[in-house]
Amino acid sequence: MPTHRLCSENLSVGYENRLVLESVDFRVAEGRLTVLLGPNGSGKSTLLKTLARTLTPLRGRVLLDGHDIHHHRTREVAQRLGILPQSPSAPEGLKVRELVGMGRFPYQRIWRQWSQEDERAVSEAMSLAQVTEFAERPVDALSGGQRQRCWIAMVLAQETDLILLDEPTTFLDLKVQVDLLELLVRLAHERSRTLLVVLHDLNLAAAYADVLVMMRAGRVEHRGSPDDVFTAANLKQVFGLDAAVMRAPNTGRLVCVPALGGTAARGTIREETPA
Ligand code: ADP
Repeated sequence: MPTHRLCSENLSVGYENRLVLESVDFRVAEGRLTVLLGPNGSGKSTLLKTLARTLTPLRGRVLLDGHDIHHHRTREVAQRLGILPQSPSAPEGLKVRELVGMGRFPYQRIWRQWSQEDERAVSEAMSLAQVTEFAERPVDALSGGQRQRCWIAMVLAQETDLILLDEPTTFLDLKVQVDLLELLVRLAHERSRTLLVVLHDLNLAAAYADVLVMMRAGRVEHRGSPDDVFTAANLKQVFGLDAAVMRAPNTGRLVCVPALGGTAARGTIREETPA
C-alpha cells in the first residue's frame, strides 16, 4: 500500500464566496510524477495553492505527513514542500545564484550564517537544472526557458521531498519542455522525490506522467495511469475535445490527435501555380 505524505480530504475552496473546488479528495503518490490536467479555469492552480497552504480551504483540510497543514509552522512546511507558482517574477538585477540561494530560506536562522551545506545545495540544484553557466548573470537577462530552469533550480535548492510545479513548461520550446520533463521524471524515479505538476500539453502529460489526474469544473474526474485515463472518451468529457488516441510509433506512449474542424476537414487548399 503506498503512503501519501500529502493529501486532501473533502476540500472545498473558493474566492469571495464563489466555490471553485468542491469536495476534492486528493492524494499525491510518493516518488512519482503526477500530472494534473484540465481545461483553463478548472481549478488546477487553486488545488496546488491549497495543497501548499497558500490558500485556506472553506471546508475540508490538507494533510501533510498526517497533520493538518495549517497546524504546521511555515518553516516546517517549507522544509518538506516546495512550490513553484505560475509565472513567478524575480527582482530586477537579481543574479541566478542569488535566486537559487533563495531556495535555502527554510534553513536560515538569525544566528546561522550561510553554510557549506547551503553552498552545496545551491551548486547541486544549479547543476541538476543546468543553469550553472548562467550563475553570475541577472535572471531578467535570460531567455524564458533559461529563466524557468533557474526557478526550478531554486525549488530544488530547497531540497524538499515534495515538489509542486504550476505549468513549468509554458512558453518553452518543445525541446526545452522535453528536457525539463526528463529532469522531473529523474527526480521522481532516481531521487525518490514526489512531484505534482500542472501541464497544459496533453501529449507530454501522457508521455511522462506516472499518474494522470484530469480535473473539470473544480472536481477530479479521472485519476490513474495514462493507459487507463488518457482515452478519447475522457478527453471529450473533460476538454470537449474530439481526438483519436493512439500509440506513438517511436515511444510507444499514448498521443492524441485532434479531429479536424469543418474548415480544415474540407480539404487542403492548393497553391495556384502561376501560368
Ligand atoms: P486553472 O489553474 O485550472 O486554470 P484556477 O484554479 O486558476 O484554474 O481558477 C479556477 C477558477 O477560480 C477560475 O474561474 C478563476 O477565474 C477563479 N480564480 C482563480 N484565482 C482567483 C482569484 N484570485 N480571485 C477570484 N477568482 C479566482
